[in-house]
Amino acid sequence: MVPIKKSASEAEIEGVSEPYALASLELHPGRTVVTVGRGPGAVAFGGSRVPVVAGPCAVESWEQLEAVARAAKAAGARLLRGGAFKPRSSPYTFQGLGEEGLKLLARARELTGLPVVTEVMSPDAVGLVAEYADCLQIGARNMQNYDLLRALGSAGKPVLLKRALSGTIEELLMSAEYVLAAGNPDVILCERGIRTFERATRNTLDLSAVPVLKELTHLPVLVDPSHGTGKRSLVPAMALAAIAAGADGLLLEVHPDPARARSDGPQSLTPAGLEALLPRLAAVAAAVGREV
Ligand code: PEP
Ligand code: MN
Repeated sequence: MVPIKKSASEAEIEGVSEPYALASLELHPGRTVVTVGRGPGAVAFGGSRVPVVAGPCAVESWEQLEAVARAAKAAGARLLRGGAFKPRSSPYTFQGLGEEGLKLLARARELTGLPVVTEVMSPDAVGLVAEYADCLQIGARNMQNYDLLRALGSAGKPVLLKRALSGTIEELLMSAEYVLAAGNPDVILCERGIRTFERATRNTLDLSAVPVLKELTHLPVLVDPSHGTGKRSLVPAMALAAIAAGADGLLLEVHPDPARARSDGPQSLTPAGLEALLPRLAAVAAAVGREV
């Protein structure tokens, strides 16, 4: 981990003009490795491995989560994802199970040994979500929720920060800077597709963000080809490409019965799809000197 020597205000006092001094690779040479979870199941992002984070968009029931968690573990994923608090475009769609979903995630972690990552949407909920989760996801819609970013400073858990739908790379880094400046050094960035004129995909997965971020920051960079494409059939190709581009890990949505998923079914892999993809990811990782 790169030690953070200065708080943002100290940096300001010394006249550092970079908008993301703490996140900057130039000012903190070397790569930050962020560890999620504890003990034998702990997962390092930013090192030689490219861990796969897999799970449903939303936690829907124990039966659903158990099926995905077992499949993720068996396929070789290292972290379990699943939303308990869901940011939905329509207020009339499934909003998540809330704390009940967090409890199910903790149960799935006990069952599989996989650490869990889940989204937190408000500063008030940071304490609650951090009690259950190993890593706190900040969704694309909240990348610039500065009160929320500040509240993560004392969360005591690593943060997975997703790029906003219309967020520039510099804005993503400045958002990461809020978390770092608030005292939490464990930030993982995630490219999840941006909104463009293109309609063939749900979003346009900006894979050039990966090498760009690698030039600008020491923080690990994940890629989410599920939200990045919105289509199950396109996920494998973009997942392989993300590893080739230098991603430090992948976020993949998986559902045991995507047609019945309460959110993001069309972009969710089946357990069999995940199982088929992992060896291919391992082959590309090996080609670029890494391991899944
Ligand atoms: C998700 O990961 O399910 C999610 C809501 O992602 P995003 O914030 O990138 O849309
Ligand atoms: Mn989703």
